[in-house]
Amino acid sequence: MPTYNISKPKSDRADKPAFRRCLDCREEFLSSWSGERICRRCKSDDESVRAARHFDGVAFQ
Ligand SMILES: [Zn+2]
Repeated sequence: MPTYNISKPKSDRADKPAFRRCLDCREEFLSSWSGERICRRCKSDDESVRAARHFDGVAFQ
């Protein structure tokens, strides 16, 4: 039986910083790993929207 290299590397693109297309705005951005598919700008937009909703009706100081 031939010996296969069990520890052969998978796609070396995964889990490494790379330019990927944002699922939201479709712009390319530097994502820090393969699971990061939303650019920082869209993420922060989303968070600010959520924060606005969360604090809706609450007095902001
Ligand atoms: Zn985006």
